[in-house]
Amino acid sequence: METTLKLYNTLDNKIAPFVPNEPGKVRMYTCGPTVYHFAHIGNLRSYIMEDVLEKFLRYIGYDVDRVMNITDVGHLSSDADTGEDKMLKGAKREHKTVMEIAQMYTDAFFSDCAKLNIRKPDTVVPATSMIDDFIHMVQVLMDKGYAYFAEGNVYFDTSKLENYYTLTNHNQEDLNVGVREGVEEDTAKRNKTDFVLWFTKSKFEDQALKWDSPWGVGYPGWHIECSCISIKNLGEYLDIHCGGVDNIFPHHTNEIAQSEAYLGHKWCNYWFHVTHLNDETGKMSKSKGEFLTVSLLEEKGYDPIVYRLFCLQSHYRKPLLFTWDVLDNAKNAYDKLIKRIRALDKEGAVDAAALEEWRTKFAEAVAQDINTSSGLTVLYDVLKADLNGATKRAIIDDFDQVLSLNLLQAADTVPEEPAADDALVAWIEERIEARKAAKKAKDFAQADAIRAELAAKGVTIKDTREGTLWELN
Ligand code: AMP
Ligand code: ZN
Repeated sequence: METTLKLYNTLDNKIAPFVPNEPGKVRMYTCGPTVYHFAHIGNLRSYIMEDVLEKFLRYIGYDVDRVMNITDVGHLSSDADTGEDKMLKGAKREHKTVMEIAQMYTDAFFSDCAKLNIRKPDTVVPATSMIDDFIHMVQVLMDKGYAYFAEGNVYFDTSKLENYYTLTNHNQEDLNVGVREGVEEDTAKRNKTDFVLWFTKSKFEDQALKWDSPWGVGYPGWHIECSCISIKNLGEYLDIHCGGVDNIFPHHTNEIAQSEAYLGHKWCNYWFHVTHLNDETGKMSKSKGEFLTVSLLEEKGYDPIVYRLFCLQSHYRKPLLFTWDVLDNAKNAYDKLIKRIRALDKEGAVDAAALEEWRTKFAEAVAQDINTSSGLTVLYDVLKADLNGATKRAIIDDFDQVLSLNLLQAADTVPEEPAADDALVAWIEERIEARKAAKKAKDFAQADAIRAELAAKGVTIKDTREGTLWELN
């Protein structure tokens, strides 16, 4: 199968054929979570769509090497290097140490990912495990004249670059992050867009994690970790870098600045950004009371895979609005789809030519800038096609390498009979006892009324020598 992926690239805002640096091989980097709290389902929209991108690249024959960081230090409350470290905020909230928080939420993140069939990247690197490498990179940037030391911190000097704003998808308003959030401006910066590579003068007194460095005891800025972890694990030429759109500025803009200053050449060719999922109140936030997590979906009785389907029904660059009603629609669509697959006949030989033909159709659909909804349409077309059940099942299983919706697995699981809940069972038993007492007292009208009452709730009763048996219809 010869399929060329056409991918939208934030670097030039165009869709163009994807060509990796090395034929057949893709080096892909993903900004991982900041592990100070559970991931919300907005974060997970980004990871689901990045997972589809990775799996699709594999599906069309690439060998993919994917790396993800875990942000466990240095991500401050404001992306403009101000405010409290998010990790410390989490630790205070839960009366735990920063490292306990990091471990707990890293585990929670991968558990959520597993429930959504998001493959764990080949390499996962916590920022705190690479401090020496960050220090080395900052030192090189100092030596090359791209960084300066002022009032206790090391800053990247953005005026040293010809084109700091390489990622074009932003405007001046986005650049005023610090100002917009009403945070004090950092007077040590030579230019407004300069950013911290290494903090020693802590912006707050009680930063828990600190390391020795040539500039004094301190901790790394957030952006340096991704550049460094990526270059160390994937080399100097990166094919695809992923994240949510909020990462475009300043995070990814700063990653490009420091990586290219360090390397002396272009670093990454394709930037893949997922547009946000919003709820009805606007932007999703972890500070809102009941924020939307995978556990909350489960508590409300949804299989997390339904949320994956919901994401796949839309294009990753379109804004997506979450409501419980739209999730219900996705649940109904999933249940119906599984029923149709369950009804397929498993007998018969798989038509290999048809499988290949449908593989191509599916690949061509998804290849148009990861068009997952078109891919789903091809799946429905397979169900309608004139093919035997075994061939349809083989094709569906093949598509599921990319979709990861547990399609055959769910279809082959016999649905459980709806179980009566405890309160209902207690009520039925109480009514049966009341009927027995009525019969004993020869109050047959009352006994019949109770039988009717049970029947109205879908309960059929049968009197046997062993007593009264019941069944829920
Ligand atoms: P964080 O844990 O805050 O570092 O974010 C993890 C990932 O989720 C990043 O790639 C963000 O860009 C992305 N993200 C944050 N909010 C949303 C959202 N509402 N919808 C989609 N992706 C998001
Ligand atoms: Zn990053």
